[in-house]
Amino acid sequence: MRLSKAYVPTLKEVPAEAEVVSHRLLLRGGFVRQLTRGVYTYLPLGLRAVNKVADIIRQEMDRAGAQEVLMPMVQPGDLWRETGRWEFYGRELLRFKDRLDRDFCLGPTHEEVVTDLVRGEVRSYRQLPLNLYQIQTKFRDEIRPRFGLMRGREFIMKDGYSFDRDDAGADASYHAMYDAYCAVFRRLGLEFRPVEADSGTIGGNFSHEFMVLAETGEDTIATCQACDYAANLEKAEVVAPVDRCDCGHDCPPPSEVPTPGAHTVEELCEFLGIEARSVVKTLLFDVDGKPVAALVRGDRELNEIKLKNLLDAKDVKLATPEQVTAWTGAPVGFAGPVGLKAPGIRIVADRELDFDCGWFVGANKAETHLKNVDLRRDVKIDAHADLRNITEADKCPRCGGAIRLRRGIEVGHVFKLGLKYSKAMNATFLDENGREQVMVMGCYGIGVSRIVAAAIEQNHDDDGIKFPPSIAPYEVSLLSLAGKDKDVAEAADKIYADLSAKGVEVLYDDRGERPGVKFKDADLLGMPMQLVLGGKGLKNGVVEAKDRRTGEKRELKLADFASEFDAWRRAVRQGWGLDI
Ligand code: ATP
Ligand code: MG
Repeated sequence: MRLSKAYVPTLKEVPAEAEVVSHRLLLRGGFVRQLTRGVYTYLPLGLRAVNKVADIIRQEMDRAGAQEVLMPMVQPGDLWRETGRWEFYGRELLRFKDRLDRDFCLGPTHEEVVTDLVRGEVRSYRQLPLNLYQIQTKFRDEIRPRFGLMRGREFIMKDGYSFDRDDAGADASYHAMYDAYCAVFRRLGLEFRPVEADSGTIGGNFSHEFMVLAETGEDTIATCQACDYAANLEKAEVVAPVDRCDCGHDCPPPSEVPTPGAHTVEELCEFLGIEARSVVKTLLFDVDGKPVAALVRGDRELNEIKLKNLLDAKDVKLATPEQVTAWTGAPVGFAGPVGLKAPGIRIVADRELDFDCGWFVGANKAETHLKNVDLRRDVKIDAHADLRNITEADKCPRCGGAIRLRRGIEVGHVFKLGLKYSKAMNATFLDENGREQVMVMGCYGIGVSRIVAAAIEQNHDDDGIKFPPSIAPYEVSLLSLAGKDKDVAEAADKIYADLSAKGVEVLYDDRGERPGVKFKDADLLGMPMQLVLGGKGLKNGVVEAKDRRTGEKRELKLADFASEFDAWRRAVRQGWGLDI
């Protein structure tokens, strides 16, 4: 493509609304434009990048035996009523009515539609297993669409669904998809980790999220330095042994300490001159409409999903200030487990609170705390469980190695659904014995448009994007510094023609711009290989080649261009960990 003809509206200014680097660079480089909140147009370069990602996904899905379909984006509300999700999905589901006053929604995901499709056709065990996928535009009315393609309201997803006769079959489908996802992300040239994810009530390790590692990621993942364990925070189990205090458990009884103005653990520590690890934080929750007090050490973070799983709850909300006052008799900041008498309240505590004593806790009284609390003696705790976030001081739950916390961007998710949708929607088949059985399902999503943003978050510098070759809209940026020199222009045209004839995708900067502008734009747009031809180079019979990732330069001899280019291309791809 000749840049002189291409629709690549680059911006000089950094757009003020863009908070993260991928959003800034995608706007500046003329890859996308926002139409309205969280809804984007893909311009030619942006669409090429998206299509590159989609092609690789398509190849790996097909290789793994999945078949591509395309389901409607508009979905009837009645299907969603069958699974109860019409009510449950909440406001992310964009609903509307047609002229006959029937309910519809824009598809945020397709479990209902695909299950309806399959239950209508599949009758016999002989037609299973079945794995269907699509690459399609989704709509989720996200509360906070942000970061450009990272969290849009309209975005492109690959979603796939497997149907099996039994659990063993569903497990095999799951593992095939897991492997296919690893192949996809490897081929995309991204540094990624599959991490164990919370699978809610289904249990087992039947949910993995695929995370692209990037400092700016919204998710924290725990990885082991010694083995390949990786899990997201809600799943990463804390197995750390707990400190046992040496007080002999003859602490004096709890007594009140006045703590005016000390609402937070930090303020309390500051006020009393104590450490956060000697405080018990009491967090109050409304769990499916009932009060729950969750206790963690003052220097720890409670994980709400761990709490939700422990209580097998549907909905966990932090208590409102009014609820806190009603349940404790004190304003927010002074809740404590001793003498907590709200009707029906359950008290659960993090495991490490099972041993120590001599705690500071809230006194359920304004401006007051208690000291010398022994949780076993002074409180009736309903359950001890792993409730807190893992830290780098904890050990790997699998091998005992050191844990490192890293940031990641979720780009894919594989999930064993079991019977959840097939049962609700009556997707059954007849087995070998003519008995009716419910199909066992799995679902598998990849954020196609999010991957383009994640690739940039992981690979960029101050000058712009460093696209992995498999995602780059073009593999090569060819810069002609011809000015008025016809010979240079001709030689550059020839390189462009030769590479194109070989099937190499080239973005040819043939504009009449100054060299400085061309260099800047090439770095901004981020094609992995840059070729620069100027008057001096032509005289010396060379074209300058720059690897955008490393900045490394070399000269390719024009006399032997084809083979020198091939060798360099191999080197660049290897640098990205890609096969040729
Ligand atoms: P998140 O926790 O980021 O909201 P999710 O758990 O809702 O993601 P899934 O329903 O598993 O996501 O969707 C599959 C994939 O689609 C995700 O792994 C992610 O890559 C992508 N995705 C989800 N929501 C968005 C969005 N709003 N914008 C862009 N991509 C998205
Ligand atoms: Mg979401």
